[in-house]
Amino acid sequence: MSTTSPLSSEPYDAIIVGGRPAGASLALRLGRLGWRVLIIERANFPSAPPVSVPFLMNSAMSLLDELEIPESEYAHDAPRLRNFFIEYKDYFRAHCAISDVGGRDYIYTVDRERLDSSLWNHLSRYGSVTRLEGVSVLDLERDASGRVNGVKVRLEDGSEQKVNGSCVVGADGRFSLVARQAGARITEQHTDVETSLLYAYWTGHAPYEPDPVGIHVHAPGDGFSVILMPTTENRVAVVFQGRADRFQAPEDAQSYYLEGLRRYPSIWRRLANATQVSKLSGMKRVGNLYRQAGGPGWVLVGDAFHQKDSIDAQGIYDALLESKLLAAALVEWKQGTLSWEQAVERYEREAIAATRPMFQATLDRLKREIYTEMPPWAARSVLRWMMTDAEYMKRFSLLVGRRIDPAQWAPPGLLLGALARGIAGDVRRLVGRAD
Ligand SMILES: Cc1cc2nc3c(=O)[nH]c(=O)nc-3n(C[C@H](O)[C@H](O)[C@H](O)COP(=O)(O)OP(=O)(O)OC[C@H]3O[C@@H](n4cnc5c(N)ncnc54)[C@H](O)[C@@H]3O)c2cc1C
Repeated sequence: MSTTSPLSSEPYDAIIVGGRPAGASLALRLGRLGWRVLIIERANFPSAPPVSVPFLMNSAMSLLDELEIPESEYAHDAPRLRNFFIEYKDYFRAHCAISDVGGRDYIYTVDRERLDSSLWNHLSRYGSVTRLEGVSVLDLERDASGRVNGVKVRLEDGSEQKVNGSCVVGADGRFSLVARQAGARITEQHTDVETSLLYAYWTGHAPYEPDPVGIHVHAPGDGFSVILMPTTENRVAVVFQGRADRFQAPEDAQSYYLEGLRRYPSIWRRLANATQVSKLSGMKRVGNLYRQAGGPGWVLVGDAFHQKDSIDAQGIYDALLESKLLAAALVEWKQGTLSWEQAVERYEREAIAATRPMFQATLDRLKREIYTEMPPWAARSVLRWMMTDAEYMKRFSLLVGRRIDPAQWAPPGLLLGALARGIAGDVRRLVGRAD
């Protein structure tokens, strides 16, 4: 257990449950302002979350810059990824260059153990922040009016203790105990486009042509997709993902995974002589939802508040952004400019405004690319014209980099333009051939 001081009997300004992107970034923002924060994490660092194979988007790196987390720490040894290649069956291949965000035209497949440990270790900058790791929060404590005013924890020696705080923040992930114990309502949920996935790390894979560290996505149009994500130690993370209603929950997940990869020749060509060097991990039915943001004395941030499919890789960015918005609202509450209810209401409104349009874009993409099976003629024509259009792919890159309004990322003019350019290109090729 790492604590900077013994647990105080004086109430903390804030108790934060969960010490990864949402919780640690919030503690950094509040610690910088001198808040007395207690942050409690069940795991011991260094450790990665149980399921995670993440792209760290350049938009998220800009938020890490604000927290003065050095890129050299979290990105150590990870190659800079500048190109996405999306193969649609053997019909066509689309290319998407990563757009510049905050001076970075690249993203990483980041090592979560490094990223999360780096955030946690930087909390030692602030003497007013007390860190507890290897400690589980068991329950919420309430005053006579029912307002949450602390937590009950189980310490590493097995003893239980109550700790008081002026507020409790649930940054405890998608299966949030704080949300459950506080009775947070789910305010929006989409179970109709859920996906499940399995992944492992490999070495000895064949490089991708034309970019050896290109992100290689194979979308066979049958409700599944495979992604090869180059990462540290010359490894590649290989993700097999599919619509949840077709993704069997097999007893022998390893065989199911390998069968899935072997099905697609362009994937298996790269892996046939490679070695799987990690155990298989995965998740069934990745949720797409929002919960009520808070109530008397408690508030949620990160995945505890809002979670979505990993297809657009927005989870870490959203967690860092929500914690920034929450910190600003909490400051106003502490200064007395806003009541607790007003601060929670403001945070919820701002967090939904900042994340909801991108969430919708992700839901639309799941429907379009995973849940819709296009007839071959449509895939070879309309879909190809769109996805091989440079302007369309540039807008897509700006969308996932959070550089344009997600509600406006693909206006009718863009789609019509892409179709017109695609048809014109085909006609030119036909005429060229006839000549
Ligand atoms: C398969 C998969 C792939 C993903 N890919 C990407 C990607 O490519 N890019 C991306 O940006 N995001 C991705 N994400 C999402 C990303 O991992 C999450 O959005 C992000 O981790 C959320 O951070 P958080 O701090 O809210 O929660 P978490 O990272 O889940 O952290 C919550 C912490 O709370 C702790 N905790 C829970 N309960 C208690 C308790 N009772 N007491 C004490 N501690 C507790 C847990 O131990 C955990 O460490 C992916 C998610 C999944 C599942």
